[in-house]
Amino acid sequence: MDCSVCTTMPLILRPPRNTICGACYEGARSILNMMNKIESDKTMDSPNASPASPSHNSCKSLSTFKRWYAQQLDQMNEHKHQAAFLESFVDAFRAQIHTDITVTPGNHGSPIPSHKAVLATRSEVFKNMLDSDECKAAPTNNITIPELNCEELESLLEFLYRGSLGPEKLEQHVFALSLAADKYGIAYLQKQCEQYMLNSLSISNALDVLEIADTCSNQKLKDTTMKFLVENIQEIVLSLQYEAFVHRSPHLTVQLSRESLKVANNIK
Ligand SMILES: [Zn+2]
Repeated sequence: MDCSVCTTMPLILRPPRNTICGACYEGARSILNMMNKIESDKTMDSPNASPASPSHNSCKSLSTFKRWYAQQLDQMNEHKHQAAFLESFVDAFRAQIHTDITVTPGNHGSPIPSHKAVLATRSEVFKNMLDSDECKAAPTNNITIPELNCEELESLLEFLYRGSLGPEKLEQHVFALSLAADKYGIAYLQKQCEQYMLNSLSISNALDVLEIADTCSNQKLKDTTMKFLVENIQEIVLSLQYEAFVHRSPHLTVQLSRESLKVANNIK
């Protein structure tokens, strides 16, 4: 077919040059759907959104695409500037500017200077620890996070200041950070860890992920991991990690065995 969109020389086509191939048609529909989805998500996220409003902004044709795309680029640049502006928090942490508290890791690691305001705004649990009332005095200059070692605590603090972590640090400390996010009520970190674990689920880490999901009562992560383990049960049972897992988590071993049996016998 002579497609007027993807052909290399549209001018040689006979007018009115308005035929398009299936692939270009599908592509155009996808772009329209994507534009509408982004606009609809924005409307839902805005504080004054009403359930009826998403259709209000819907894009009916690709004629608006160029203007719409330019707006998206403007907004992306604006977000970049905002992120750079907020990066000054990280600088204050690194350079220890006006720090007013230290946070100490377990195993008598070195205390890390930090800012009470950042800890309190990122975690309700830290806020309560730092608050004082008639029953308790506020800790004046140090709090201890006994379950994290020095590197893990540094990564936790970096996340609290920056709102993100490099993939290497996330990979290295995802289990410790997930447990800390659960304990200290840091929902955004919890979400990032969950996403990382879901994306990197493998034979070698799935048993660990199942234990983390169970400890943090993360049902979505637990269900997905359980399904993955059941699908790969032969390899899992023969893996080196399985024996230690059985000793560590007998209740999860029972759940995994029952799920595998159900699937093997096709029981719902
Ligand atoms: Zn085409």
